[in-house]
Amino acid sequence: MISVMGTENTRAAGYGNIYRLPTLRNLISRVSQFLSLNGIQSHHLDARLIVTHALGLDPIDIYRKPNLPIDGKSESAVLSLMVRRASGVPTAYIIGIKEFWSLSITVDERVLIPRPETEILVEESLAAARSFTGDMTILELGTGSGAVSIALAMELVAARIVSTDISPSALSAAEANISIHGLQDRILFKRGDLFEAIEPDDRFDLIVSNPPYLTDEEMKCLPPEVGAEPEEALRGGENGLAVIERIVAAAPDYLTAGGFLIFEIGAGQQDAARKLIERTTGLSLPHTRRDYAGRPRVIITKRTCQ
Ligand code: GLN
Repeated sequence: MISVMGTENTRAAGYGNIYRLPTLRNLISRVSQFLSLNGIQSHHLDARLIVTHALGLDPIDIYRKPNLPIDGKSESAVLSLMVRRASGVPTAYIIGIKEFWSLSITVDERVLIPRPETEILVEESLAAARSFTGDMTILELGTGSGAVSIALAMELVAARIVSTDISPSALSAAEANISIHGLQDRILFKRGDLFEAIEPDDRFDLIVSNPPYLTDEEMKCLPPEVGAEPEEALRGGENGLAVIERIVAAAPDYLTAGGFLIFEIGAGQQDAARKLIERTTGLSLPHTRRDYAGRPRVIITKRTCQ
């Protein structure tokens, strides 16, 4: 398909002088408008990501080569990705990449797309790690794409990390990510439901998790983008706390004395999560870290001696 929307003085091959090719800038603004009309709030950013991905360009090319002419075949490729995005497929799945902790994490429909607020989980884990000298052992429950384990491995070069997930397909996505980042020797993946694949006498200095925590009610009215993500990474039972309850109950058995349990929670779960911990023998009074939108987001507790 050849568009005649371009303003640049470039001829479309085979179409004589009549038709002009769209430029990179024209195409981005057209995609952005289409996404906006289809209710996509992040239409500016998504248009830039989708167009540069489809054309194999660097995002900086938008500023370096705004007048780059786009041939009909490339334009069609862009427009078909634009239609997928407008139908609710998340941009990260379309371009296959999500940036997390300044790392490129490969993502597809097998895994939850790492969220910026989950960087708080990494920040708190790094703060906790300062209590340990030398090697430390970390267990991540429900690793998904591997984003949190990879960020921790990059920052804590002496840490040994075990990462579990119930989903074999998520683990294969995570394994692809650790080899892209050259971390095969630092992160060990084990398939299993929470602690299922962990030996009963294994102990960790830090247990970290972004568990599924959406309530059944929230699951009924997910935005299309979230609905495209794996249900088992999202659904936390009737009150959203089913998985968190199991993590809190079992964590004391797998923590070293003074070891930390740090996990993400959903909107409104702070009080319930704190109560769970207060009722659990072997865990200290928790504290909560808010995310940059001011919402309670991460709960931090420690293994006590009794
Ligand atoms: N933060 C995600 C959302 O709001 C949920 C992720 C999770 O359940 N861990 O869509």
